[in-house]
Amino acid sequence: MSAPSDDLLVSRSPADPRQELGRFRVADGRAVSCAVERARAAFPAWRDLGLEVRAAICLRFRDLVRARQQALARLIALEVGKALWDARGEAALVPAKVDATLSDGMRLVRTIEVGRGARATFHPRGVLAVLGPFNFPAHLPNGHIVPALATGNTVVWKPSELAPAVAAWIEEAWKEAGLPAGVLGVVQGAGETGHALAVHPDVDGVLFTGSSAVGQALADATRALPGKLLALELGGKNGVLVGADADLELAVAETAVSICATTGQRCSSASRIFVETPVADAFTERLARVLRGLRVGPPLDPRAFMGPLVSLRAHAKLVHYRELAREAGGHRVACGEPDRPPPWVVPGLVRFETAAQPHSYQRDEIFGPEAALYPVADLEQGIAALNDSDFGLVASVFTRERAAFAHCIGRVRTGLLNWNRGTVGASGRLPFGGLRRSGNDRPAGLFSTLYCTVPQSHLEHAGGFDPKSLPPGMPRP
Ligand code: NAD
Repeated sequence: MSAPSDDLLVSRSPADPRQELGRFRVADGRAVSCAVERARAAFPAWRDLGLEVRAAICLRFRDLVRARQQALARLIALEVGKALWDARGEAALVPAKVDATLSDGMRLVRTIEVGRGARATFHPRGVLAVLGPFNFPAHLPNGHIVPALATGNTVVWKPSELAPAVAAWIEEAWKEAGLPAGVLGVVQGAGETGHALAVHPDVDGVLFTGSSAVGQALADATRALPGKLLALELGGKNGVLVGADADLELAVAETAVSICATTGQRCSSASRIFVETPVADAFTERLARVLRGLRVGPPLDPRAFMGPLVSLRAHAKLVHYRELAREAGGHRVACGEPDRPPPWVVPGLVRFETAAQPHSYQRDEIFGPEAALYPVADLEQGIAALNDSDFGLVASVFTRERAAFAHCIGRVRTGLLNWNRGTVGASGRLPFGGLRRSGNDRPAGLFSTLYCTVPQSHLEHAGGFDPKSLPPGMPRP
């Protein structure tokens, strides 16, 4: 939890606000412009270094982070309140992104040859702005930064105001890895700093991971600048569909993790659970039991499943939506009182008796460990219920029948669709992105090298002048 003042961010652990993790100067408009100018000045030399040299620096960054992964995990756990197992998972993804980018990612932007003298090459865009969320403060910005740098762009990064210390740690690791000055700049601050960076005329692209509301605001703010690339990785209201034939233990375990990992603060968190009627009661009872039993505790306690929410604001939002559940027609089957003050919470589950989802409780991204459970008659009603959402990021289907899952592929309108696995936990070697309010068709993950580059097509003529090639009516030169 960080308290922004006019010119200083004070980072405090949400689990224990007495624990201060650092103070960071807020970048105003002038500081943002300076960072962009430095990145612009550094761009030609960084681009011209070539992939081999850039890759060597990325690999040094990878090795350095890997060697200090435990320290990074502890810092993430402290700064955003994530349980240690969860923070360790995140820390491991940071060096892994370097490998994924340099192998699969760079393969996507290799020169395309389509015949003699006809090819396309891929080039960096220039200066890219990276705007990050709080919930994966290292992994998600890193998911843009590594491909941006590897493909030859320079970067100005505006991390979440709730995680400035993690950003400073990563910035330091890049410096130690030998990244030339100006190639990666960090500007600390909240929305105002992010806005100033995104609309800066010398920023060629904005790589944003965060809420759909801010994504929309960025799309509005850059509407008059169609040449500025905008890659939006936004929110979710993700669904799980449990068939009557599903392995219930597996489905309950995966669903509980999907609802509560990172205290429900993942874009991929599950919050809509559709269960075929014959097993709906058994599933509800088992899931409620598991949710009640999840251990909530200090992030550094290795026995804790989940820590607190990130902030008092996030807590107030969850409480607000929980109060709406009854008005939406739901019946609360799980949610006790946490034995610690806000922003600590316990998981919640609300049961509905039909699959209709008209209420804001059922449609908005709540971003906390809270899920609604609905009975559905069959697979078709389940698919329709999954699709009845303004978002389209992830869905999961639990069934023993591969054919039933295969039927869902392409019919469930999400960027990711999992079989007998929860909604959380994605492969960095596949595209990651969503439809509707979840993104703007610029998936990250494997595809991040694509939006970091622009193609240039070349047609070549190797021979000399041939008078026969002249169109009719054109005199010989
Ligand atoms: P947020 O949208 O509040 O903030 C994200 C970033 O945008 C922060 O750095 C913030 O300071 C900045 N910002 C805020 N207002 C801005 C403005 N007007 N102009 C420019 N920048 C601005 O999101 P959050 O609360 O940090 O993160 C949670 C959200 O992110 C959830 O909605 C979650 O689903 C989403 N998310 C999406 C993905 C994905 O890959 N699709 C991954 C993680 C999180």
